[in-house]
Amino acid sequence: MFDLYFRPTYISPVTVATVTDKLGATPVSVLPIHTYGQSILRKKARTVQKIGPDIVKLVEDLFETMRNAHGIGLAANQVGALQRVLVVDIRDVEGWENVPPMALLNPEVISEEGKWVMEEGCLSIPEIRDDVERAEKVRIRYRDMGFEVREIDAEGLLGRVLLHEIDHLKGVLFVDYLGPVKQKLLKGRLNKIRRGEVEVAYPIVAEGETVMAENKVGD
Ligand SMILES: [Zn+2]
Repeated sequence: MFDLYFRPTYISPVTVATVTDKLGATPVSVLPIHTYGQSILRKKARTVQKIGPDIVKLVEDLFETMRNAHGIGLAANQVGALQRVLVVDIRDVEGWENVPPMALLNPEVISEEGKWVMEEGCLSIPEIRDDVERAEKVRIRYRDMGFEVREIDAEGLLGRVLLHEIDHLKGVLFVDYLGPVKQKLLKGRLNKIRRGEVEVAYPIVAEGETVMAENKVGD
């Protein structure tokens, strides 16, 4: 089994709720998720310069969109916003119930250690999962929702999710790491996603249009 150890003391306890109290609540929206083939997934997100109502709204919408899609992480590019913002909530995963949901602004990897392989999926690439090798331990510097600079040491699933989401902010997708043979095998399925021919239980954007996907049972 994978080692899922991590040190919770490094996690900033600032939650979106506390920020909302300070800045005033706005209605939260589930945004459509941009899927494979959408150019915004290949663009580099811009550095957040300050926290304003736009960033608070973006973070809240990211959390809402992620939860609606039963994801454990989501990056701003995926909802069509080119801001270096990501959210993570892995509390539904066994062994990670005590990790508070996190919003990271301007995250950057400052050190990496070791390598491990884990199967990944992505809300922007529905129905495709594959093994990806990434660093085992990472240190990430970011700004929290109070715009304070923080650092987090993460390993196991938490490090994995953070690296996956930071990649999104750089225009990188997990399928980019797959070898040429796997890439070739997946081409047909990726093209289907590009055309919006996927069944997912959350709203998506494919081929430049918003598609309200049919809801599957249980959502
Ligand atoms: Zn993803």
